[in-house]
Amino acid sequence: MKVFAFRIEQSIILSAKGEESLSFYTGCKVSENWVQDCGIDFNDKQQVFEWFKIAFSPWITQRQELFSGNIIWCIPCPQYHFPLHQTWPTLPNLTLLGDASHRMPPYAGEGVNQAMQDAFELAENLTNDGFPDIQTAIAHYEKKNTGKSFIGN
Ligand SMILES: Cc1cc2nc3c(=O)[nH]c(=O)nc-3n(C[C@H](O)[C@H](O)[C@H](O)COP(=O)(O)OP(=O)(O)OC[C@H]3O[C@@H](n4cnc5c(N)ncnc54)[C@H](O)[C@@H]3O)c2cc1C
Repeated sequence: MKVFAFRIEQSIILSAKGEESLSFYTGCKVSENWVQDCGIDFNDKQQVFEWFKIAFSPWITQRQELFSGNIIWCIPCPQYHFPLHQTWPTLPNLTLLGDASHRMPPYAGEGVNQAMQDAFELAENLTNDGFPDIQTAIAHYEKKNTGKSFIGN
């Protein structure tokens, strides 16, 4: 069971795990060095809870139970991704799959499938007879999956 809740620049996602535990993520847009600069000790759950109550105050108060439990670990995970305008020439011996080649937030619930689909399509290209050489096979995969590569300089 999963619950996804979004509001402007904030999210809360709950996942019920098979062994009856609950994991949850919050997402929010902050300045780049916020984890270092915010003054919160993320090992101190009370400090994290106090931050959550203020930062997520417009959310319904039942959500606060998530942070007030006794057995919680909070791990700040800054998210970055490569520039969207980036392009590269196809190489004959190197390519990108999965998160390295797609803009994929952890809570889309699709990253693993996307990575496996990439691997499947690349393997298809490398093993079928439709391409004259490996570079062309990789170029076809990259073009379809990233739209960002090209053959040549
Ligand atoms: C908190 C969280 C929850 C998520 N939940 C879901 C979910 O419910 N469903 C879903 O589909 N996806 C989920 N994802 C996304 C999913 O985990 C990724 O999309 C997926 O793992 C991408 O696979 P990948 O092989 O591209 O990269 P990764 O799984 O990140 O694999 C890359 C590997 O390369 C290794 N590596 C990095 N640098 C080097 C180096 N220099 N030398 C050697 N090895 C290196 C890393 O250690 C890692 O093992 C979640 C992600 C996060 C962070």
